[in-house]
Amino acid sequence: MSLPVFRFAPSPNGPLHLGHAYSALLNHDLARQAGGRFLLRIEDIDRERCRPQFERAIRFDLEWLELDWEEPVRRQSDHFDDYRAALDRLIEAELVYPAFLSRGDVRGFIAEEEAQGADWPRDPDGAPLYPTIERRLPRRERQARIEAGAPFAWRLDIDAAMERVSGRLDWQEQGSGPAGETGTIAADVRAWGDFVIARKDVPTSYQLSVVVDDAIQGVTHVVRGRDLFHATSGQRLLQELLGLPAPVYLHHDLILDDDGRKLSKSQFDTGLDALRSAGLEPHDIRRMVGL
Ligand code: GLU
Repeated sequence: MSLPVFRFAPSPNGPLHLGHAYSALLNHDLARQAGGRFLLRIEDIDRERCRPQFERAIRFDLEWLELDWEEPVRRQSDHFDDYRAALDRLIEAELVYPAFLSRGDVRGFIAEEEAQGADWPRDPDGAPLYPTIERRLPRRERQARIEAGAPFAWRLDIDAAMERVSGRLDWQEQGSGPAGETGTIAADVRAWGDFVIARKDVPTSYQLSVVVDDAIQGVTHVVRGRDLFHATSGQRLLQELLGLPAPVYLHHDLILDDDGRKLSKSQFDTGLDALRSAGLEPHDIRRMVGL
């Protein structure tokens, strides 16, 4: 039997706060309890917002929390070839299409549709679903636009994707969703519509790289905040389309601020750096997050 594999996968786009500490400590403790492995993965595909100094600060904070993880750490920006290969398979299978509409185009299109009376469908985060009008753009037209340098993202054709899925897609949830969902969860595969598989600037997206990496790293347990519960539906679908195994998922409580809001990377008072400067020790952090 291979060992259980857990991972903490922060994005180095800001300093870690108490919520990250909780996630990292929980992953680490569950891995140790299961006699398994604990990995750190740096999710830095966003070349605009991610910075090497935040990556250094993440390592510093995690060491301070007395966590140890396996080296080398997988840094996503070192592995664009892996994501490109997965993207190419989806292109080959005609499951994705180049999407050229700008945000303004999308807003305009939806406003026109809504003016006709119908409410436009929204994703679990409340954003309007992307219109599907470019799915059938003639090949020549696509090629001409790409050659003319028009920026585009690759989007999943959710109807084409659904035709490849036989039966119900679900996952094992050991934590719970926002409405208390737990146990066997049916993936809501249409929830995100034609979601982005590869962005304009990089040959991947959060959703694509996370499933490719979880598979390459042999992750068996994905333990992360409940804010990513609904994203799991899209990840299960991509795993199915790419023939990748499904880990078990545990979505944990979010640590909230005094006003009941999710912590953000710009709230300095709950940043680990600020807490450390205020004299707190790792065991205080554990107590604050209930571990
Ligand atoms: N990189 C993501 C974040 O920092 C976490 C991804 C995951 O755990 O699946 O929110």
